[in-house]
Amino acid sequence: MAEDPNQWAPATRLIRGGLTRSSFGETSEALYLTQSFAYESAAGADRRFSGEDPGFIYSRYANPTTQMFEERLALLEGAEYCRSLASGMAAVHVALTGLLKAGDHLVAGKALFGSCGWIINQWLPRFGVETTQVDATDLDAWRAAMRPNTKVVLLESPANPLLEITDIAQVAKIAHGAGAKVVVDNVFATPIFQKPLTLGADVVVYSATKHIDGQGRVLGGAILGDKALLEDAYRDIIRHTGPAISPFNAWILLKGLETLDLRVRAQTQTAAALADQIGAHAKVSRVLYPGRDDHPQAAIARAQMTGFSNLLAFDLGSREAAWRFLDALEIVDISNNLGDAKSMATHPSTTTHRAMPEANRLEIGLTEGYVRMSAGLEDLTDLSRDIGRALDAA
Ligand SMILES: *Cc1c(COP(=O)(O)O)cnc(C)c1O
Repeated sequence: MAEDPNQWAPATRLIRGGLTRSSFGETSEALYLTQSFAYESAAGADRRFSGEDPGFIYSRYANPTTQMFEERLALLEGAEYCRSLASGMAAVHVALTGLLKAGDHLVAGKALFGSCGWIINQWLPRFGVETTQVDATDLDAWRAAMRPNTKVVLLESPANPLLEITDIAQVAKIAHGAGAKVVVDNVFATPIFQKPLTLGADVVVYSATKHIDGQGRVLGGAILGDKALLEDAYRDIIRHTGPAISPFNAWILLKGLETLDLRVRAQTQTAAALADQIGAHAKVSRVLYPGRDDHPQAAIARAQMTGFSNLLAFDLGSREAAWRFLDALEIVDISNNLGDAKSMATHPSTTTHRAMPEANRLEIGLTEGYVRMSAGLEDLTDLSRDIGRALDAA
């Protein structure tokens, strides 16, 4: 083949990347729904297990459909190595524990996806890992948190739920200066609009459940980065602890990648228009969208993202007003999911962030008036009418 996939534009990578065909020449990628693989002889099995023959052994280790998904996503991200896992949280958990051991220290931002907060505050300490959370927008706070035993820095940008932006290149510099690896949860930005590896991150994690599926069907996750570091850190933990994704789910996500670029760009245009409409409404005291000039970290967003994605948050002043808004929606769903073709809105302080103590919620600015919204693929005129009516009702 004369074509080099690494020269392809993203849209081509998403459709052609990682494609391998069986002897039938199927046009749509094959779904290899199999647990294991048979060998032509005892000596062939021996060669497979010794690694001399690189073929498949067992789907907990690797599977041909799963591998197509991993190669396609790696090509999009510009990463040498990708492993897909059963969910975004399996990816975050493996990404962190593969780099940490008892006695190590981790630093993370304070505003994080809820389950990531649980891993940091409840789970890792049980295994002797110390953790510190900082205001992720404050570079001095990151500097002050570094210790001689700091091995991992975890950040999310834009962060859940208020779309706070962290300067990834600057935090990577601070972390690397202290000898720590940088893990970036890139879900909100999507692989279309932000490339953490080029900004200095060592590991990128995704919940593929979100934009990569994009149609609300299956759970999945992925870990990407340089082969030397990641293979060493993650190969055995994935093989032996069993967070493998189902080949069926990997196949759904593989097909989801084909339309990712189109979907995310359309959703982003809608989100930007809705942010302006919502920001101009009298009932809204504040709208947070990384593409607006009034976002507190707008300059950093413009420097490190090529688009601002489909999530926004806005403050209606009280829980009662936020609930009246949600209950008045007729098209947009009340749901905590995001990245879906269907527009969704949620009240973070009583759903996704209800487990966070109130003091911590207030520390990250999450008051009870906030609604978080994920713009979908419906017609903008219909969404504007639905949201305008709900804002009036708030
Ligand atoms: C959804 C999400 C996760 C977890 O992903 P699951 O697929 O639900 O396990 C992690 N981080 C962020 C930012 C998310 O939005």
